[in-house]
Order: sequence, then structure tokens, then C-alpha cells
Amino acid sequence: MQLKVSGGLFAKSEPCNELIGNPKMTITGHFIQGAHAPAPAGATQAVFNPATGEASGQVALATASEVDAAVAAAQKAFPAWAETPAIRRARVMNKFLGLLNRHRDDLAAAITKEHGKIFSDARGEVDRAIDIVEFACGIPHLMRGDYTDQVSTGIDNWTMRQPLGVVAGVTPFNFPVMVPAWMYPIAIATGNTFVLKPSPLDPTPTMLTAELMRDAGFPDGVFNVVHGDKAAVDHLLDHPDVKAISFVGSTPVANYIYERGAAKGKRVQALGGAKNHLVVMPDADLDKAVDALMGAAYGSAGERCMAISVAVLVGPVADRVVEKIKERIDALCVGDGMVPASEMGPLISAAAKQRVTDYIASGVAEGASLVVDGRTHSAANGPGYFVGATLFDHVTPAMRIYREEIFGPVLACVRVDSLGQAIQLINAHEFGNGVSCYTQDGHTAREFSRRIQVGMVGINVPIPVPMAWHGFGGWKRSLFGDLHAYGMDGVKFYTKQKSIMQRWQAGMGAGAEFSMPVSQ
Ligand code: NAD
Repeated sequence: MQLKVSGGLFAKSEPCNELIGNPKMTITGHFIQGAHAPAPAGATQAVFNPATGEASGQVALATASEVDAAVAAAQKAFPAWAETPAIRRARVMNKFLGLLNRHRDDLAAAITKEHGKIFSDARGEVDRAIDIVEFACGIPHLMRGDYTDQVSTGIDNWTMRQPLGVVAGVTPFNFPVMVPAWMYPIAIATGNTFVLKPSPLDPTPTMLTAELMRDAGFPDGVFNVVHGDKAAVDHLLDHPDVKAISFVGSTPVANYIYERGAAKGKRVQALGGAKNHLVVMPDADLDKAVDALMGAAYGSAGERCMAISVAVLVGPVADRVVEKIKERIDALCVGDGMVPASEMGPLISAAAKQRVTDYIASGVAEGASLVVDGRTHSAANGPGYFVGATLFDHVTPAMRIYREEIFGPVLACVRVDSLGQAIQLINAHEFGNGVSCYTQDGHTAREFSRRIQVGMVGINVPIPVPMAWHGFGGWKRSLFGDLHAYGMDGVKFYTKQKSIMQRWQAGMGAGAEFSMPVSQ
């Protein structure tokens, strides 16, 4: 498949599948029982190209009966899939891995078209999704149990992990390929069947994924997609056949999902929002720190849960760092994500643009120094949902632009005098997703890593998203639940441990035992 890039827009030289290649397709519908569902029954919502602001299609919003149909398909597929030996499930996953690699650019182009992030960033997103699928291909090893011979005379004890049943995932707009892949590859590899409810803002990459799952040979009903809004999510939360829910999105919704799902007796893992700090120590390599701040604050227009939105400038470096960032922003190329020169694309929607510009106004009103105003960037006054890179200095912890997640290209600089003050500041924040410290001193790095109350820490790494086998998750109000996403925590989340203790005739004593059994 070749992509042709022209005039900022892209076209495919040939259709890669019936959904994306069909110009008559205007409504993205559900994917149930291994096929595109017939014409959707409920309301629809427009899907936009954020770079132009033009509607590119519609997406269906599932009715309760459509959600029921997806859960029923998953429930029907579950017994046979759970009984399929793990190595055979892994072989199908391996075919899916091959297809993902083959369609990497198609997926990335679909992301850029509906999300707006630059194409190279979208490719990076697909690559991180591929990492998780590679991890899931090792499921026979990951699911193996523990065995202890002779725990008592003639008795052995072992553990095994078994799947839960139908499990659901509810995902945000900002990583339409990667975040679902934090969930379904491990859920399905461990023997569950899956219903995904992606964001309605960028539904096409998910549908391409569903087609690749089907083409890989997963049995019908193992992977299903329903599009929708709160009503569809509520129906999944309340559905008695859904045993677990994984959620990734904003903190208020994560909190709600966690409480409602847990009240219904489900296993719930709900990852929420963030406000990530990057500390620049006086001994840091300032050029490298500024590179890191530029990419981590403005990459993907700040629409990453691991984006850096606060620079904590320690001691005398502050003026120089602010000046250097300002110079770099002046040279930043903002534009359509399919144009190779673009470094930052648009925000996802008109509502997101409004929210971000409102936050910029609130920062000014609360007395922060607006060093660069992204509202005045030429792209912000053209078509599409662009806001230029924005820089505030002299931000204080009381300001809304410090306390709240903006989820846009807005970097707030806070000045402190010492490492201790930086740590105190960060630990007092309600979010604890990611954090980074730039320093050349090993002791500073060690102290910072040990004392910081944040789930994912980078030392001279701005966006420390853990690899597929380490697991992803923040602390405090960035995660509700006990287990992190993917890695071994993912395997645990999607399976129940069973312990088996066994003895055979020769080891059996005579008569009833009324006291606690102990090793004999
Ligand atoms: P969102 O919370 O608006 O939506 C997430 C999902 O929940 C979507 O599928 C949406 O349709 C659904 N939803 C929205 N409102 C709902 C409601 N009231 N009841 C039930 N379901 C609802 O989030 P978003 O705007 O799509 O994504 C951005 C947010 O996600 C940011 O806060 C970002 O930090 C967060 N995020 C967190 C992580 C993480 O790992 N912690 C990763 C990616 C994104």
C-alpha cells in the first residue's frame, strides 16, 4: 500500500479494505460477530478532519440492543476460545502481528486523518501498539502457573490462571490504536472475548484494527466493536455478562467508571488524566532539556496523557530555559499532520480548541506571564482546530492552568529554588501519572526517583512510557484500581488465579480431620 501525500492531504493509491477504501461509506458502524454490523439503529455523530475542520463522515452511537448484540457475540465465542490451547491462541495473535506490521502506514494515516497528530508520531503510536501484541504472543509462557511438589506428604499444590469471560474496554481519542492495544491483545490472548467502545471522535483506526483481527483468523465474536457515548458505556457497565472493564480517559469519567463498575461487581481498571512535570536542575544540559520540553509539551499538540505540561525550573536556569523555549517555538512548524515538515498538528475538535483557548485566557486573568500566545498563531486563525504552542512563565500552584489538565499545547513554567521544593510541589498535585528530571548528577536522580509520588518516572527521559512488559499506570487520581495496564499486571487483570491441591489414594490418611491442615 502506498500513500500519496499532496497539498497537505493524503490519498491512497488503492483501497486497503472495504471500510476505508469505500468512498460511499459515510457512517462508521459497529463490528460484531466478525463482520460489519448492518445499518446502525441509533443516532450518529459527525467525524471531522481536525486539520481542515471538515466533516469526513458519521459514526454510529450504539443503542442498548446493539451493545447487547456485541456482548452476546462475545459470550457465544467465549467457551471455545477459552478452551483453545494458549499456544494456538498465540499463533493467531502472531498472524495479527504480521498484518499490523504490513498495514502500519495505513493505520498511521487513518490516525492522522481523524486525530490530527503528525504522521511520524502516528507511526510511533502504531509501533507501541505492536510492542504489546508482540508481548501477547508470548502468552503460553506468561500464563504458566507455579507448582510445588510435596507440600505435605503425598500432596502437591499448583496454581493456574483462567480467563474471566467477556471483558470490555472503553478508550480515549488521543491514541486510537495504541490505547485499545493496551487491553485487547492481552485480554484475548489470555482466553477472554472482548467488546471495545472506542472514542467516537476518531473511529476509523479501530475499524481497520477489527478487520485485521478478522483477517488474522480470530473466531467470530472474539473481538467486537461498538461505537457510542455515555449511554453505550453505561450499558456495558451494567451488563451482567461483562466481567471486567478497562477504561482510559479523563479523571472524572475514570472515577465514575470505577465506582459504577465496582458497584456492579466487576473488575475495573480506570486510568485517568494527568499533569506531568519536568524538572530542570541547575546542572542539566539545558539544550537537551529544552529539546525534551519542546517534544513533550508540544508533540501531538499536548494531547498525550504523558505530555509535559509543567516545567519546574530550579534556581538560576529559569530565565535561560524560558528564553530558549521561546526561540524554539518561533521556529516550530505547525500544520497538517500529513505534510512531512509539520511538527505539530491541530487539536481534535472545535470544543477542544475552545477549551484550550479558555485556559490561556484564564492564565492571563490569574496573573501568569504569557510569553508566547498560541491563539495569535496564523494557523489558529485559519481552518481546522489549530492552536499554536503557548508558553506561560511565573505560574503558581494556585492557578487553574497549573492545577487542571489542559490537554493542549500549553506549557506552564514554575520557578523553585531547590530539588526539595520541586519534589514537594509535584507531590502535592492531585495527579501522579508521569514525571521527569533533567540532571547530570546521579545522587539527585536517585533522590528524585525515590521520593517522587508519581507512577512513571523519567531521568533525562521526558516521556517515560514503560515498555510492553513493564506495565503502564499512574498514581493518585491518575489511576483507579490496583493493577496497571499491560505487562504482567495486564495478564493478572484479565485472569483469575486458581490454586489446586491434590493427593491420590496412597497419600490419603484415614478418618476425618477437624484441625487446620498443616504440612506433614
Ligand atoms: P474522555 O474521558 O472524554 O473519554 C474517554 C472515553 O469515555 C471515550 O470512549 C468516551 O466516549 C467515554 N466517555 C466520555 N464521557 C463519558 C461519560 N460521562 N460516561 C461514560 N463514558 C464516557 O477522554 P478523552 O477526551 O477521549 O481523552 C483524553 C483524556 O484521556 C485525558 O484526560 C487524558 O489524560 C486521558 N488519557 C489518560 C491515559 C492514561 O493512561 N492515564 C491515556 C490516554 C488518555
